[in-house]
Amino acid sequence: MNALSDLAEARRPRVVVIGAGFGGLRVAQRLRDAQVDVLVIDRHNHHTFMPLLYEVATAGLAADDIAQPVRAILRGTRNVHFLLAEVTGVDFGARRVTTDACRVSYDYLVISAGTVTNYFGMASVERNAIGLKDLSQANAIRSRILRNFERATVERDSAARARLMTMVVVGGGPTGVEMAGALAELKRHVLRRDYPALDMAGARVVLIEATDRLLPAMPTGLQRKALEQLSSLGVDVRLGAVVTDVSEDAVTLRDGETIGAANVVWVAGTRGAPLAATIGLDLAPDGRIAVGGTLQLASHPEAYAIGDIAVLQGSDGAPYPMLAQVALQQGDLAAGNILRAVRGEPPLRFRYRDRGTMATIGRRMAVAHVFGLQFSGSLAWALWLVVHLLAIIGLRNRALVLLNWTWNYLRYDRASRLVTDDISLGRDELRPFRTD
Ligand SMILES: Cc1cc2nc3c(=O)[nH]c(=O)nc-3n(C[C@H](O)[C@H](O)[C@H](O)COP(=O)(O)OP(=O)(O)OC[C@H]3O[C@@H](n4cnc5c(N)ncnc54)[C@H](O)[C@@H]3O)c2cc1C
Repeated sequence: MNALSDLAEARRPRVVVIGAGFGGLRVAQRLRDAQVDVLVIDRHNHHTFMPLLYEVATAGLAADDIAQPVRAILRGTRNVHFLLAEVTGVDFGARRVTTDACRVSYDYLVISAGTVTNYFGMASVERNAIGLKDLSQANAIRSRILRNFERATVERDSAARARLMTMVVVGGGPTGVEMAGALAELKRHVLRRDYPALDMAGARVVLIEATDRLLPAMPTGLQRKALEQLSSLGVDVRLGAVVTDVSEDAVTLRDGETIGAANVVWVAGTRGAPLAATIGLDLAPDGRIAVGGTLQLASHPEAYAIGDIAVLQGSDGAPYPMLAQVALQQGDLAAGNILRAVRGEPPLRFRYRDRGTMATIGRRMAVAHVFGLQFSGSLAWALWLVVHLLAIIGLRNRALVLLNWTWNYLRYDRASRLVTDDISLGRDELRPFRTD
């Protein structure tokens, strides 16, 4: 008997969870061994530890250091099942989820499908820049940079060579800051040694942010520290600069300036997963689902939305940030409220316990705002390392990350530099490869 037929025969309430990210998995784990049957659906067979995606993109870690098969995470849970499928629709009236593999009915639904990169309708940006929302994009960024450096070794025109070696990150939030810092270290410690024939003066790392500050959610003092630390690594930080176009080898700013760059990473915005727009709900302007304090959909109280895809105002009127901690805590509450509903009890309201935010920038450089205290430099960096190491799911992944970090730190290395996806980067193959 397979998992789905098990579910079909079960008499216990069925909970369907869309998404095996931080929020969805937490719901499944909290419902483990409860008197319900749970089906987690994800279009990927793995759970990715997003906070370390930038390390994969910059060759510090390999993809499977930061991801784990969902079935391995759920192994041993008798009432929790997994379906690898893309959810294509929800019929709230019939309480049924449609996927590209089958249809599944539910008594309770948790939508935890996260967000995707927001290119704000700029087709040229979507075509030529790479976002950083999943492992395939992280691998694509790494491949593009390494392949462009290979090309630079045979490029005779110095301006074209500089474009191949220039890396632009758009978006000055935590991901952009971490990405820019890691690229600067990749250039300084690894690419310089890998490509002794190239003049690294031509290789630039540029961080572009539309507002007048980095890390908008952090206190001003830490924003300044982050700017200082990035500048000390040689990152060219452009504040108040708005990108209007990205071509194959240049970024154009609103003031008309063009920055020659063949490696552009776009981390300037997110919007609700496309699924949200297909299920007939009223959405916030950024395509996310508005929920009430109990995380239920107003029109369908048996359905919950949690994590990045959900918009819920905190007591200060501002929406809760799109952070793993918010998704995890909302996963706890949604699971608890489902069990309360099964018992006929009223739902509880979400209360966020803010544990702070942090961003790492380079070797012994980071900023952290934790429990109201501000840290920067080595202490913040050590804090960041410990918090992230403990948060990674799975002993094997934790051990691999620790090993790679230690190796990279002691050897000034970024060891995961294999380029294996030549075919998937087919567009690049069409570019002229000048040898004379
Ligand atoms: C590069 C990066 C760095 C980050 N760094 C940090 C950090 O340092 N600290 C922090 O707190 N937060 C960080 N975040 C934010 C954090 O990762 C998110 O807040 C968190 O992942 C949200 O969890 P979620 O469950 O809502 O969504 P996600 O973790 O995004 O999971 C959504 C899941 O839904 C699946 N899915 C989507 N649509 C469908 C569909 N139609 N059918 C089937 N499956 C679907 C996806 O495959 C995915 O597995 C970072 C995010 C990124 C992108």
